[in-house]
Amino acid sequence: MTHYRENHMSNDDTIFGKIIRREIPADIVYEDEQVLGFRDIDPKAPTHVLFIPKIRIATLNEAGAEHADLLGRLMLAAAGFARAQGLAEDGYRVVMNCNENGGQTVFHIHLHLLAGRQMTWPPG
Ligand code: AMP
Repeated sequence: MTHYRENHMSNDDTIFGKIIRREIPADIVYEDEQVLGFRDIDPKAPTHVLFIPKIRIATLNEAGAEHADLLGRLMLAAAGFARAQGLAEDGYRVVMNCNENGGQTVFHIHLHLLAGRQMTWPPG
């Protein structure tokens, strides 16, 4: 599997910008005015969906109070999708990786929704 390592110090677009603009294909499963949800190309669970803001915030470090509503929308989109898919009762995990130690590889924040199997703790 190709691993994408993009420069978090630049304002350059990421592969997720291309998905938002439909320049490259993605399996889009959720969309509203501010949020897009699509299946991860390299799934780590039977259901693995990424929820991203349509505006680019490179990492959670760049998020400010002005993004509080948007960050909440990512959470609610993930929870709503899980509920609609019948995954809520069994449970799931939501994760946002930040920078090197967090394991972030695409510098456009994204909330991972992982479901359909037993998760372990602590994560690797
Ligand atoms: P992270 O490591 O938290 O930055 O997560 C980035 C995620 O994006 C990884 O799970 C990748 O598999 C996923 N990914 C990278 N490129 C694509 C793509 N074109 N479509 C869907 N998912 C992607």
